Amino acid sequence: MSEDVSVDVVIVGAGACGLVAALAAVENGATVLLLEKLEDVGGNSRLSTGSIPAAGSRFQVAAGIDDNPALMVADLLEASGPHEAEDLLTNMAELSVELVHWLVDTHGVDLQLITDYKHVGHSVARLHAPGDRDGKFLVDDLVAACEKVGVTIRTSHPVVGVITEGDAVVGVQVEPVSGEPYRVLAKSVILAANGYGNNKALLKRWMPEIADAQYFGAPGSTGEAVAWAEDLGAAMINVSAYQGYAAIANPELGLLLSWTTVEMGAVIVSPAGLRVGDESRGYSGFASILLEHGDTAYAVFDTTICDYVLENEPRFVRLFNDGLIIEASDVQQLAEFIGCDSATLGDTLVTVARAASGETADEFGRTNFGFGPLKAPYCVAKVTPGLFHTQGGVQVDAHARVIRPDGSPIAGLFAGGGVAAGVSGISGAEGYASGNGLLTAVGLGYLAGVASAQKSFA
Ligand SMILES: Cc1cc2nc3c(=O)[nH]c(=O)nc-3n(C[C@H](O)[C@H](O)[C@H](O)COP(=O)(O)OP(=O)(O)OC[C@H]3O[C@@H](n4cnc5c(N)ncnc54)[C@H](O)[C@@H]3O)c2cc1C
Repeated sequence: MSEDVSVDVVIVGAGACGLVAALAAVENGATVLLLEKLEDVGGNSRLSTGSIPAAGSRFQVAAGIDDNPALMVADLLEASGPHEAEDLLTNMAELSVELVHWLVDTHGVDLQLITDYKHVGHSVARLHAPGDRDGKFLVDDLVAACEKVGVTIRTSHPVVGVITEGDAVVGVQVEPVSGEPYRVLAKSVILAANGYGNNKALLKRWMPEIADAQYFGAPGSTGEAVAWAEDLGAAMINVSAYQGYAAIANPELGLLLSWTTVEMGAVIVSPAGLRVGDESRGYSGFASILLEHGDTAYAVFDTTICDYVLENEPRFVRLFNDGLIIEASDVQQLAEFIGCDSATLGDTLVTVARAASGETADEFGRTNFGFGPLKAPYCVAKVTPGLFHTQGGVQVDAHARVIRPDGSPIAGLFAGGGVAAGVSGISGAEGYASGNGLLTAVGLGYLAGVASAQKSFA
């Protein structure tokens, strides 16, 4: 065992939550050590589109968008239904503007308002993302900001448990990939290790419906930090909620069909050429619908949509180059690729075109068809649903302190991101609105960083 290390704040996990917590804690005068178990930082945050909601930002004002925290709360509650973290939602919505401005202005993080479409669950454009809508850039910018303010980040240093003294948490136990185990003693411990998407046993316990689906998040989300907090008596809430994704284009390579295709008018059909539901319920909600209908489906769109997404989302180019998106000159060719009856598929597309042009109501209630009726030449991608990340977890208070069922804080213990319960409803995938994951990753990371640095909370 190597010698103990002593710092004010030790943070477990270097995704968006941990990196933001480190910035906030250092800014508030704390010495910080950030520990990451894998060789690379970033976790799920790196895989995401990096989209963070903020209600009333100056970017929205400049774009003429009228927004405020109350509207954001109403939108997200409408998407999620009632749940056990509604107070957290209000906190996050009220913090959101300050947070996005702080990231951009103080720490040079590139975040731009997405104005070309509204995301799932939002009545106005309020997601702020890196230019290329790639979470890699969000993580890179946060790492650069951490380096600038002198945060020490140790990768390949898994935390294997927390150290307690009486009821208080006073540090963590580390077993580096190479080298001797050691202890970090700290006034505050922030759990920023994400949820349990990559832990079949916890999925079976809390969300059996998705436990056997393929997981497409980062490998580090194995849930140990959630389990430590639960063992210490933390309240667990919204535990069965998760983010699914309905359009994985290549499960082996983890390549996704951008949901922008659907927002701009794509429809999703079964192998028989029939639609199975309202695609505008979103990539997460629609994953549940697909799971009920078998696990293979086809996203049908057209070259106008394809060109649009290729131009705005460079990540999409790989799908195209890898032959995962097929162009079809007419319905006959489309049906051949899907392997369905062309008359059936033709009827499906005629019916949906009528709804998209406003001639009739959509049979599943969809009202937004982006660019309108699809036109040949078409594009098609085979898709399958999967799990992105879990949204349930430990309950935290307004300072991101982990609390027990009676509301008392566990001294010295903070949590954010996927360790903490999110704001996506009590269970299932349907309550997830775009940006909910990073909202509580950066929001609670910020609150935990600020509070953990203050002696009165430690
Ligand atoms: C493909 C995809 C797209 C997404 N798109 C979006 C989006 O656009 N907007 C949005 O809001 N959400 C999105 N999400 C969800 C979002 O990525 C997550 O909710 C968010 O990144 C969680 O942040 P985090 O910091 O809690 O976890 P992570 O970013 O996963 O970071 C946690 C880190 O902790 C490390 N760790 C785990 N255990 C330990 C340990 N014992 N010791 C040390 N380190 C440990 C992990 O290796 C990891 O690096 C997406 C998810 C996926 C998979």
